[in-house]
Amino acid sequence: MSTTLPEENTLSHEDTSSNLESSQNLESSSPPASADAHQGTVHIHQEEASSSRTTSLTASLKSYLFENTSNKNVRDCRYIYRPLHALDTFNTKPCHNSFLCVSCSKRELRPWRIRLQRVAQIVESASFVTLSVPTDSDLDTAWRNLELVWSKLSKSSSFSRQKKSHGLLHNVRAAEVTYNESTGQWHPHLHIFLLFSTDDQDATHVSEDLLRRWKIAAEAIGVPVSSSSQHWKLVPYEDRYDTAGYLVKQGPWPTSIKAGTLLVGDILRQAATGSLEHKKLWTEYERAAFGRTAVRGSQGFDTWADSIASELVLAA
Ligand SMILES: [Zn+2]
Repeated sequence: MSTTLPEENTLSHEDTSSNLESSQNLESSSPPASADAHQGTVHIHQEEASSSRTTSLTASLKSYLFENTSNKNVRDCRYIYRPLHALDTFNTKPCHNSFLCVSCSKRELRPWRIRLQRVAQIVESASFVTLSVPTDSDLDTAWRNLELVWSKLSKSSSFSRQKKSHGLLHNVRAAEVTYNESTGQWHPHLHIFLLFSTDDQDATHVSEDLLRRWKIAAEAIGVPVSSSSQHWKLVPYEDRYDTAGYLVKQGPWPTSIKAGTLLVGDILRQAATGSLEHKKLWTEYERAAFGRTAVRGSQGFDTWADSIASELVLAA
């Protein structure tokens, strides 16, 4: 699905809270290095206007969350705006909620995106898999089924054998939720980046096998899935950086450019402007997201990815 994704902020994970606050307002793109002076001026003017609009948007979304969220940690997050009369609820801790918080989402997801973008470009082969379950139930039930099937599948001995025999190094899975305005159905799904030390032939084998096993595992818990709603593709080297960025895009910032499909960022924006329909949807999403994890790597992924990054630095 096509989306727009705000520009990645340029702060490190250890940046101060005041810097982080200002960084959340930078949605516009920096001028490319090749831009001439005139183009650069145009970009600067656009950035000023865009930054101002985003500041206003950020404030309205934070205010909405403070007034309406059912998640206490998000409401009390140190980065969420509160009116003067509510300053006694000020919490010095961030909420760390990737799914809901306008501020913490970027901060939490950025290390994941950077790690994945780095390693995706040094592995021999990579594939991108999308897995889903039927959505004829409420969001929480569908999401629970989705995680249950993946848990069974990823922990199975057959999947472990695939890793060894076909060079599957690691995988990173990300949960994403969209909403179809035409059918009124939620669509929770998993995106999975598979990273291989071998070639495209092995990546093809493992990916096709994963889809086949997904269907079997889902049916085993009474959730029949159609083959046509599961997808995979090889990710050529030149696409891996962007695909990794696409995978790690949870939370309230990305918005959809596909008519009739809403990302949760669209839902929050509409709710913040007073739409009762979207407020109801956002509340359902909040409750379903409670206790869930946005992005997760296979066992040892973090250590492996960081060791590779260190090697790259030493080799440079
Ligand atoms: Zn927060």
